[in-house]
Amino acid sequence: MAFIDFDNINISARKKGLKEIDFNKLREILLNGYNCVGCSVYLPDKLKSLIPHIQKSGLSVSIVSPNKSVDGRLIFDLLVNAYRNTFDVAIIASGDRDYIPVIEHRKSQGKKVKIASFESALSHGVRFVADEVLLLDDRLTDLSRFKRVYFCPECGKEFTDSHKYFNGYTPKCPDCYSKTKSKDM
Ligand SMILES: [Zn+2]
Repeated sequence: MAFIDFDNINISARKKGLKEIDFNKLREILLNGYNCVGCSVYLPDKLKSLIPHIQKSGLSVSIVSPNKSVDGRLIFDLLVNAYRNTFDVAIIASGDRDYIPVIEHRKSQGKKVKIASFESALSHGVRFVADEVLLLDDRLTDLSRFKRVYFCPECGKEFTDSHKYFNGYTPKCPDCYSKTKSKDM
């Protein structure tokens, strides 16, 4: 079961230049290989305009009112579902240290907890206690809702990139780019 602390993910994503997250892709990345029994996005009240977009991607949304804490709500849901034994592996998309006690609790019951976070938002404690850490930094292009289509100047292949380059500069496709890099070494 996946629990997404949206603010935590979004703040780091924006710092990395990612303006809008593709929630379908995010779910796919988080659940990679796991059977999905539920995927919830926890949103602070101020971001409720995102609800239709998130629901269209097939995820459920929990809105947290302005004076309540998002992590408190997420932890409550996680524990209620754990008590009902509805899931096995907990996937938490956040690197916030507030989740350390709940991660430790799950682990003390012999259950697995996977964390997905951007490196800048990943606290040392979380990195230490989680069974598995997925760094979202490596998946930045996949996570972008808006992808630009380029044609590689070297091999002519079409590819997508979320990055906007300077006028007149055409990037090489990832294959040609890595070839150039390995030649340099
Ligand atoms: Zn190429």
